[in-house]
Amino acid sequence: MTKVCLFDIDGTLVSTSGAGKAALETALQITFGLTELRGTVDYSGRTDLAITCDLLRMHELPDDPATRRRLHEAYLQQLPLQLARKTGRVLPGIADLLERLGAHGDVRLGLLTGNLNEGAKVKLGHFDLMRYFPFGGFGDDHLHRDDVARAALQATRRYLQTEIEPEQVWVIGDTPLDVQCARAIGARVLAVATGMHPVAELEATRPDLLLRDLAQAEPFLDRLFD
Ligand SMILES: [Mg+2]
Repeated sequence: MTKVCLFDIDGTLVSTSGAGKAALETALQITFGLTELRGTVDYSGRTDLAITCDLLRMHELPDDPATRRRLHEAYLQQLPLQLARKTGRVLPGIADLLERLGAHGDVRLGLLTGNLNEGAKVKLGHFDLMRYFPFGGFGDDHLHRDDVARAALQATRRYLQTEIEPEQVWVIGDTPLDVQCARAIGARVLAVATGMHPVAELEATRPDLLLRDLAQAEPFLDRLFD
């Protein structure tokens, strides 16, 4: 039976060392002529749309589609520059795991990320990982990650042109919101402690499987194919 693995990006596949955050905040400052940023916004596991709305409101800028579009265009220009400047990396075990899963006839790989679709392409393209992910759910149109998960499941069915049951799907992510959104679609979930959230915090969200990182991916492969 076909298995679908939907991967989060930041903290799961790669660490950009804050390039995404730097790109968005620089874009905000350049686009709207701000000399400094007011306060901080929570980025972890949230969608780019939700983060953008928070940033605009915090700076008393209009939170409307045209303003968001301007900011996103500036962000997508900044992102390659910031990725080149920061020392990001592909997280442990990911290259081998993707190679293995990508070559497996019964496994399909997709994305389930809060990143903008274009932002995901830029980030994963930077690390030469985009080629593994022909479909996914993204953070362009959704404030909540649970809705991204629903969109990712729909995108999976559309791409594979077959009915995929939630039990066939594993979500792989590094935040409590990844676990929550997997539950929202009835999927299984692997939590990995390679982002900002320690093992104990992820454990409390009761994922189906929890790993320190994917350098030792055997427990996951065993569960995926059991
Ligand atoms: Mg993440």
